[in-house]
Amino acid sequence: MNYQKIITEIYKSVEAEEDQGQVSSYIPELAQVDSKYFGVYLTTTNHTEFGIGSCYQKFSIQSLAKVLSLSLAYKMLGEKIWERLGVEPSGTPFNSLVQLETDKGIPRNPFINAGALVISDILISELKKPLTDFLKFVRETSNNSELNYSERIAASEKSAGFRNIALCNFIKSFGNIKNHPDEVLDFYFHLCSIEMTCEELSKTYLYLANGGHRISDKHQVLNASQTKRVNAIMQTCGFYDESGEFSFKVGLPGKSGIGGGIIAIHPGKFSIAVWSPRLNEKGNSCKGMKFLEQLTTKTKSSIF
Ligand code: GLN
Repeated sequence: MNYQKIITEIYKSVEAEEDQGQVSSYIPELAQVDSKYFGVYLTTTNHTEFGIGSCYQKFSIQSLAKVLSLSLAYKMLGEKIWERLGVEPSGTPFNSLVQLETDKGIPRNPFINAGALVISDILISELKKPLTDFLKFVRETSNNSELNYSERIAASEKSAGFRNIALCNFIKSFGNIKNHPDEVLDFYFHLCSIEMTCEELSKTYLYLANGGHRISDKHQVLNASQTKRVNAIMQTCGFYDESGEFSFKVGLPGKSGIGGGIIAIHPGKFSIAVWSPRLNEKGNSCKGMKFLEQLTTKTKSSIF
């Protein structure tokens, strides 16, 4: 497969299209990001890699980090985590509170904010030094010791994080948050603040395309069953109330973030990161979705 040629062609055609969507503005620091950035990076399990556009520019990975926090909690506790949250698509926006009342504080899945807050709570209980140990896991998974939180972005989200504060306190009222909400929120805002480039993202998440192993040295991040299941949840829940649409148009397990990043996985084949900050009304990157739709169509690489 000549990925370089196909990616270049699709990149140029999507870049030439008229801009749609808006840069996220509820986190003040994210509103400052130049909407023109557009980067793509693909890494295959047989060591081909190719990047184009702003693929070496760091950005805020936001909800893409929820895949890494889920992976670490799953690795540490196994199936026990499913006592605290579900694996069903919510069909609601990422920051919705509505289902929690009827579901008695059990979030539908780990990728909506409610679920990611419960995973954060689990990690705080399990890790000796939660922020340091989580970052260690991210650096180990990516084989990149340079990755870091952005204190600036974490503080900016904290200053405007009213819905997440409400969510965390609401779940706490049902007993499904064990630690102090301030600590859980601080951890959650930090994990969302991690910055990576498309190249770093595509390499970090490649374990999901490689049976749970890093490709560089076979280091095991997750076992085969856990890897299959994380991919399954990405497929069904990775884009909130647009997960069906992403499956329909792109047909790969994936995850979006409000910073405009998308990571998509073809199990056994590749991991691809796309970044463009303008989002549609569901909070997913407009150009990112378009690019991936064309990629899986032209390369026949949807999993379906
Ligand atoms: N940090 C963001 C929030 O909690 C993450 C949301 C997202 O990327 N969809 O609102």
